[in-house]
Amino acid sequence: QKLEWQRLLHEPSVTADGHVVELAANIGSLSDVEAVLSNGGEAVGLFRTEFLYMGRDNMPSENEQYHVYKTILEKMEEKPVVVRTLDIGGDKELPYLQLPKEMNPFLGLRAIRLCLDRQDIFRTQLRALLRASVSGKLRIMFPMIATLDEFRQAKDILLEEKDALVREGIPVAEDIELGIMVEIPSTAVLANLFAKEVDFFSIGTNDLIQYTLAVDRMNEGVSYLYQPYNPSILRLIKMVIDAAHAEGKWVGMCGEMAGDAIAIPLLLGLGLNEFSMSASSILPAKSQLTKLSFQSAQQLAEEALNCATAQEVAALVQANNEKLT
Ligand code: PEP
Ligand code: MG
Repeated sequence: QKLEWQRLLHEPSVTADGHVVELAANIGSLSDVEAVLSNGGEAVGLFRTEFLYMGRDNMPSENEQYHVYKTILEKMEEKPVVVRTLDIGGDKELPYLQLPKEMNPFLGLRAIRLCLDRQDIFRTQLRALLRASVSGKLRIMFPMIATLDEFRQAKDILLEEKDALVREGIPVAEDIELGIMVEIPSTAVLANLFAKEVDFFSIGTNDLIQYTLAVDRMNEGVSYLYQPYNPSILRLIKMVIDAAHAEGKWVGMCGEMAGDAIAIPLLLGLGLNEFSMSASSILPAKSQLTKLSFQSAQQLAEEALNCATAQEVAALVQANNEKLT
């Protein structure tokens, strides 16, 4: 098996019947990039930048961030890098921000909400990203977008910072794709409207499952409700993918589900374009994909969408896998 994975290292990610997808990696720091490349990652599908801000007692400066982003883009050598702007709050705290204690942190002032409220922090990060953009293929992504208005506000701020840099004579790439995480049900439901304004979506199933089934993703006591294969989740994913494709946009997924062997045939069949996972999952996923047929996966997904429970979906995929082997 290890040998087969090595052989696949530089092969494209393509199904047995010729359908191409992108296999990308999630990273949390510069030091993770090595593993992305050595595991055949074709892109970084999610850089969780909050880790730059954590485990220290002050904010990383614009220059400090600039050097990290620039180095990652350079190391990836023109392979796309999706950088997610700061997603702090919820389970991730920054003591030096001294934010008020909240009753429901996962429903509170986190991620893009915090960035729109504390624009000094947001603008510093955006300037660092824009300056680094000429060093590779940068894609910028906003987390926890719940409304179109939030996306528009965040985009306007990005454009303001870009104009300011250009006026200062600092070079900025012209072709930076701008996308959002789809991890709140309101955004999945309105995906057809978002799809007209963004360049791409990345589905964050970790939070999308949490918010759709109203189940705390950290709470063991209700973990039985944390159901990636619940048909409601599959239907939301389908809505997002269909809406994006209708506007000629691509869709990735950077939640844990993207690297899950049971989910992969379903996601493939639903039309997902990019799968972003931990680096160590990439070669196993590629091996699985090369044996799948896109056409059969589409039929499987169709059937799964009509299942009533997560158990039925899992059983359906299981039976299908056995047919394959
Ligand atoms: C997600 O919610 O699926 C996601 C990728 O973001 P995080 O796990 O960082 O919340
Ligand atoms: Mg999330």
